[in-house]
Amino acid sequence: MTFKKSGLDKVVEPGEVQPPEYIWSGGSIMPWDDATVHVTAMSWTAISAVFEGIRAYWNEDLNQLYIFRLEAHMKRLWDSMKLMRMSSPYSSRELENAILKLLRANQAAGDTYISPFAYFSGSVPGYRAAYQLPVEIYITGRSNPSNLERNRGSRCCVSSWTRISDNVMPPRAKGIANYQNSRLVSTEAHINGYDAGIILNAQGKVAEGAYACIFLIRNGVVITPPVTAGILEGITRETVIELFQEDLGMTVEEREVDRTELYVADEVFLCGTYAEIEPVVSVDKYRVGSGRIGRTTKHVRQLYKDIVRGRVESRLEWLTPVWKSL
Ligand code: PMP
Repeated sequence: MTFKKSGLDKVVEPGEVQPPEYIWSGGSIMPWDDATVHVTAMSWTAISAVFEGIRAYWNEDLNQLYIFRLEAHMKRLWDSMKLMRMSSPYSSRELENAILKLLRANQAAGDTYISPFAYFSGSVPGYRAAYQLPVEIYITGRSNPSNLERNRGSRCCVSSWTRISDNVMPPRAKGIANYQNSRLVSTEAHINGYDAGIILNAQGKVAEGAYACIFLIRNGVVITPPVTAGILEGITRETVIELFQEDLGMTVEEREVDRTELYVADEVFLCGTYAEIEPVVSVDKYRVGSGRIGRTTKHVRQLYKDIVRGRVESRLEWLTPVWKSL
């Protein structure tokens, strides 16, 4: 990999990830270290801030970087901003171009995680009428290798925490504040020796993983909780549903899921932009299926892997090439 080394003369501590050379902030590309805000803006700004997490995948054969489902991520960013009563100073087309410009400036030539972040600017306490403040956006694009080659399934637990619900903090907005809920779940899971946590909603039904949607397969049927179950409306979820139905000819049921269905499922996996397709091999120490990565999960994961790297002609419409028409 991948990114041009930062020209900034900095000591990098072991384990510290070197930032890319440039960031996009407030309408232009600028050196990473120049993108500063006043320290007081850190506090209440976060309450209403919303963001996106987008992956771009490197295709070694074509020397091409493909952004996966950029348009869908922009649409969700707009929905998240709307829910926070934010209006963007930039159009979604301007932000799409900003992302391309940023990746090109950083000479990105490897798997990349892109994150636009929108917040009410100004260091006024955010619990006051923050919706009247101007909105600002910055975008980062950092090197982040895919996990799709990892051949280990995750051991999950059902969390003792409950998923936030629509009348509390709308889960369909990708709001920073919502991630306190996710963080409590993943921290509890890790402290108790699991790889990831699964959250039940206020009705006691399965909602999702801490940072990913959830699917199970039982008797050849694919099942996932509906978008009204207190989930983030995952773009990977939507992608995977389409792949199951159109490419693999399987039935997908979007319906309420009981906790114990996870224990008796043949296969379970988590999916999200960052998580990609993460096979689950046990839940609360109940072995899922054979305790190994399931056949259908492997199949859909392989298909996903080929699609995101631009190897499936019929799905190129989901990809935005970075290195063209410069
Ligand atoms: N739920 C939560 C809480 C998440 O953070 C994510 C990751 N964005 C997802 C689901 C999956 O969404 P997506 O597939 O759009 O990344």
